[in-house]
Amino acid sequence: MPSVTEGNIIEHVPLIPGFYRMVIRCQELSREAVPGQFVQVQCATGTDPLLRKPLSLSGINPETGTVTLVYQVRGKGTALLAGLETGQSLSVVGPLGTGFRLMEAGKRALLLGGGIGIAPLWALADALQKAGVSVDVILGFNTASEVILDSDFQAVSDRVLITSMDGTCGIGGHACVPLERELKLSDYDGVYACGPEPMLRAVKGLTEEVGVPCQLSLEAYMACGIGVCLGCVCRKDGGRPGELYQRVCVEGPVLDSREVAFDE
Ligand SMILES: Cc1cc2nc3c(=O)[nH]c(=O)nc-3n(C[C@H](O)[C@H](O)[C@H](O)COP(=O)(O)OP(=O)(O)OC[C@H]3O[C@@H](n4cnc5c(N)ncnc54)[C@H](O)[C@@H]3O)c2cc1C
Repeated sequence: MPSVTEGNIIEHVPLIPGFYRMVIRCQELSREAVPGQFVQVQCATGTDPLLRKPLSLSGINPETGTVTLVYQVRGKGTALLAGLETGQSLSVVGPLGTGFRLMEAGKRALLLGGGIGIAPLWALADALQKAGVSVDVILGFNTASEVILDSDFQAVSDRVLITSMDGTCGIGGHACVPLERELKLSDYDGVYACGPEPMLRAVKGLTEEVGVPCQLSLEAYMACGIGVCLGCVCRKDGGRPGELYQRVCVEGPVLDSREVAFDE
């Protein structure tokens, strides 16, 4: 059950300019959350910004009673968040949404993240590896100076491929290029992806073409985060009348690719 918690910030560090990792102590949240779920974070004590901001749980550690957030400063809310210091408290509502469905031991998973979309995949890679699943990861960035969490992923994966749009590190070009190659070469039981919408649309197409099940984590604009305001709905693929839309905050953010209809 989601609840409002005052978490204690025990670590808050910049990863690269504009990107931060924050570890907060939240016993109950760390015990209840699963990878793919998110929290609504109160970035300011006043009314500006009024709304809480959704952030994925990048790390979930019930043993230490902590969760980790990895975020990019985009606007006012995340800029205020960046100003918080170790020792301060942070109000979070969660865990929210539907997380990733894990695979059984012995299966092979391919994870693909683009930009800050890699955030929820770190907790997922960790959980899959602990469940005995073989984990390959493709992390896509614009350029070498924007690479984050690569060593964190190495620690919880069998193989990590880095791509950069400008070719300054790893494989040059879009992350979907190695995805297409890997899907042809290897026998994956499933793909998990999070990132910009054009990337997710391409992943849906590529995985459905080869018949590999795929779960997508969507990042819609969101207000309440608990299914009431309907601000985050996305179209449902093949939905019947009355079921044409689904709420990213409740039915998602993780959805089966076959259930998601992207706008052309
Ligand atoms: C389920 C979910 C999980 C998320 N997890 C993470 C995460 O782990 N790390 C992270 O850095 N971000 C994550 N986001 C995005 C994050 O919520 C936004 O970046 C944040 O709300 C921006 O708030 P702000 O007040 O700083 O900026 P705002 O002033 O609200 O917006 C600044 C700029 O960012 C754009 N923007 C805001 N929200 C989104 C969005 N959802 N998608 C695309 N563009 C947006 C706006 O159009 C605007 O141009 C997640 C979003 C969702 C829905």
